[in-house]
Amino acid sequence: MAFYEFDIGVLGGGAAGLTVTSGAAQLGAKTLLIEKEPVLGGDCLHYGCVPSKTLIRTAQVYHGMKNAAQWGLPGCEVPAVEYSDVARRIQSVIGSIQKHDSEERFCSLGARVEFGMPSFVDEHTVKLKGRTFSARKWVIATGSSPSIPPTEGLDGISYLTNKNLFSLDHLPRSMIVLGAGPIAVEMAQAFSRLGTQVALIQRSGQILSREDKDMADLVMKVLSSEGVSFHLNAAVMSIREAGGNKEVVIQTREGARETLNAEVLLVAMGRTANLTGLGLEGVGVEFDNKGLTVDNRLRTTQKHIYAAGDVTGTYQFTHAAGYEGGIVISNAIFHLPRKVDYTYLPWCTYTDPELASIGMNEKAAGKAGIDYTVWVEEFKDNDRSLAEGAGTGKIKMILNEKEKPIGIQILGPQAGELLSEWVAVLNGNVKLSTLAAAVHPYPTLGEINKRVAGTFFSPKIFSDTIKKSLKFFFNLKGRACKARLE
Ligand SMILES: Cc1cc2nc3c(=O)[nH]c(=O)nc-3n(C[C@H](O)[C@H](O)[C@H](O)COP(=O)(O)OP(=O)(O)OC[C@H]3O[C@@H](n4cnc5c(N)ncnc54)[C@H](O)[C@@H]3O)c2cc1C
Repeated sequence: MAFYEFDIGVLGGGAAGLTVTSGAAQLGAKTLLIEKEPVLGGDCLHYGCVPSKTLIRTAQVYHGMKNAAQWGLPGCEVPAVEYSDVARRIQSVIGSIQKHDSEERFCSLGARVEFGMPSFVDEHTVKLKGRTFSARKWVIATGSSPSIPPTEGLDGISYLTNKNLFSLDHLPRSMIVLGAGPIAVEMAQAFSRLGTQVALIQRSGQILSREDKDMADLVMKVLSSEGVSFHLNAAVMSIREAGGNKEVVIQTREGARETLNAEVLLVAMGRTANLTGLGLEGVGVEFDNKGLTVDNRLRTTQKHIYAAGDVTGTYQFTHAAGYEGGIVISNAIFHLPRKVDYTYLPWCTYTDPELASIGMNEKAAGKAGIDYTVWVEEFKDNDRSLAEGAGTGKIKMILNEKEKPIGIQILGPQAGELLSEWVAVLNGNVKLSTLAAAVHPYPTLGEINKRVAGTFFSPKIFSDTIKKSLKFFFNLKGRACKARLE
């Protein structure tokens, strides 16, 4: 049998790679982790989830200060934002979390950590800084980087991406955002709230294109009301530097041209898998422009080389990366053939209000040819939302032909948190009647989950048949008031 120095080698120390590394090392596998950057943690910690959510919270507080009168407080003149202070807060939050992702911690778990740019020299061996490391199994978890689509003029100017957005030395006066996915939309609202004039350009007619249009349009309405301007169905024709500003020429679907100007340009037009320099072509690991080609056990075209996280190009979320890391552990360490199942993979866009989703939305159900029904409850009818001053939004419950829930979308305050109950309901195959009957504390936002389940049962419980039966058996006397509720 061939001798390998390590049982498993992991390339990339982000959410996916760290999950595999800690699991494998704790299970007694001799584990090697190689990270390109000088620190562990990956995009989520340094340039993604953590800085963006920290910024969003800061922007939310500032927005609240500027709009204090909405809560019955005295209106006040709020000083302008000092972005360097905001950036410092971001770095301090990153620093606190970084401790969990330190080299020492992974070493204490039993893994060897190396830094540098590895490259496969054969199917079991990588070269790193002049020496080689061999492993029986490998995991590619090198994540993704911002996609920079070919656009006239873009390569000749400086622009922002998630890599440099959180460490700016001042708050931009104005910003053009290219793209309308979760990152683009979250950042558009956060910067707008901090005081930047934001314009967002989107090729199609809808922002957050994975979501149902009614929900995405509601998000857009909120952002528009806060001052973000949207240019939908707009193709970017050219970009150039003009008088210290970025000038973007767009063309509408009707062919009209418009020129937009801003101090900075944020490019948030999707992600590209980090595969350059790994030497994959030489070892028969296939990939396309979405990412690595994997089967449902996350094996690449070399069965002992696995992939997890953004590099697979499927669901590019931290929790998806963690989930996929677990699938790799099952297959590579336990030798249990476990397949990925994304049926109930939840996600949330952290705008205010948040937009959270699990299972199928109307778009997905329609595409799958499912004969579905939609049940809605609005936040304006939830007492706690009104007390919070956050009555915008709704929950949509999608039921299939058998009246089983197949998906939930929530647009509203703390939608990401509210979704957790549905994570348990759907994964645990909990009956809708159980949720509808379960007592929820009053007044909570969570009551909306119970209420939407109740909207399904109400017409059945209060039906004419039930009323007639009760009248027949118990001689109920019927209405006491002539006026009818419409
Ligand atoms: C602005 C922004 C906000 C986001 N917000 C959220 C959110 O709120 N919730 C959420 O779930 N997701 C969010 N994401 C997505 C999330 O960050 C990613 O899905 C997650 O980081 C993917 O984990 P990963 O391990 O696949 O990749 P990463 O975390 O990027 O880790 C990959 C690691 O591999 C290293 N690497 C790259 N190339 C090599 C190489 N050749 N050799 C060795 N190492 C290499 C990288 O340096 C990095 O450390 C956000 C992303 C962005 C950009």
